[in-house]
Amino acid sequence: MTERFAIRGDLLDFTAEPAWGDTESPAVRFRPRRWLLIEDGRIVGVQAEEPGADWPREDHAGRLILPGFIDTHVHSPQLDVIASYGSELLDWLNTYTFPAERRYADPAVAARGAALFLDALLAHGTTAAVVFPTVHKVSAEALFAAAAERGMRLIAGKVLMDRHAPDGLRDDVVQAEADCRELIARWHGRDRLAYAVTVRFAPTSTPAQLAMAGRLCAEDPTLYMQTHVAENRDEVRWVHELFPEARSYLDVYARAGLLHARSVLAHGIWLDDTDRDVLREAGAQIAHSPSSNLFLGSGLFDWRAAEAAGAAVSLASDVGGGTSLSMLRTLADAYKVQAMSHQRLTAWKALHAATRGAAQALSLGDEIGTLEPGQVADLCVWDWACGPVAERRMEVARGLHEKVFAWLTLGDERCLVTSIVNGVARYRR
Ligand SMILES: [Zn+2]
Repeated sequence: MTERFAIRGDLLDFTAEPAWGDTESPAVRFRPRRWLLIEDGRIVGVQAEEPGADWPREDHAGRLILPGFIDTHVHSPQLDVIASYGSELLDWLNTYTFPAERRYADPAVAARGAALFLDALLAHGTTAAVVFPTVHKVSAEALFAAAAERGMRLIAGKVLMDRHAPDGLRDDVVQAEADCRELIARWHGRDRLAYAVTVRFAPTSTPAQLAMAGRLCAEDPTLYMQTHVAENRDEVRWVHELFPEARSYLDVYARAGLLHARSVLAHGIWLDDTDRDVLREAGAQIAHSPSSNLFLGSGLFDWRAAEAAGAAVSLASDVGGGTSLSMLRTLADAYKVQAMSHQRLTAWKALHAATRGAAQALSLGDEIGTLEPGQVADLCVWDWACGPVAERRMEVARGLHEKVFAWLTLGDERCLVTSIVNGVARYRR
């Protein structure tokens, strides 16, 4: 039995990467009042004319339809510490994050947390994510199982941490390797799930553990790798003390064999030109996390320098350092971070990085990120405006960029009407 339906709205996606500063970008594809035809979870057609009677229809004329957002760096257990007052990174980890993550040793807590987290992503218009659970194997199990139930594209892995973390949150090299291998065998490539070798950050792994992580990546190039790099100046100083032989913080990962085309490195604020060249050569991406960077006072990411060096940049909420799972709020924060450096981020550049750009950087460009026939039907329907201020702003907006820029700046999850994953509505307002 073929499952099919048609959905209509104003379709917005990208056919290429928009150039920096170009508000009239030819990479933007805006198709108002079009029907998307979806069959067995995939987009099979786009047309202006009404489909035949054999197509069940869902008409959202006057609403926006975008590919589902891809959040390339977010911590599932940190919903418990989102919006915690008064600290920078290292203090924030010890005061808030580590105590919250310790609870995830309990399978019931891990299962409940995973379900809450994934449903929250879907209720914010995010249909795919690269996620940190905790050091506990059971936390990764719970997350993968919950994502499989929802048909989601999810990349995750048990966090590696064998030093500089409190009791109950440390593993060791032998146990960690065994846990990773079991999780990889069970989940990597199953449904829409993929395993990421997950190094929390250089300070919480011994050189022996980093080497083990590098070996895992070398054995299987289809594995992802996720970690943090150069987020905060005190953190960078600490890494220099711990790894005096490394040229830079990023070099710690390079030496361990952790930089490759499937590496996702959060933040990358305090990098230099050599680091950016290394990222480009490896094909690794930076998961820019503007909300988190502002909230924790970590610094201003230099997107233009990364772009000039040819390093890929995707966008991430980094909840719980970030203060919202909404990618719209994240994009609006990204604009403000660039404005602080006298740069202007177009709506096109921002939206591309959170959809097609992230998909390509994750080697998932054939599966997600656009509304092209053949792609998996991961998409969201949005109201153009929510509330009288945004409604008025839309009435007077001239031109598509002005309208979409105002939408992403004023909008948030209240504008979300429905989230469709793999052709199935998983959230409805
Ligand atoms: Zn993070």
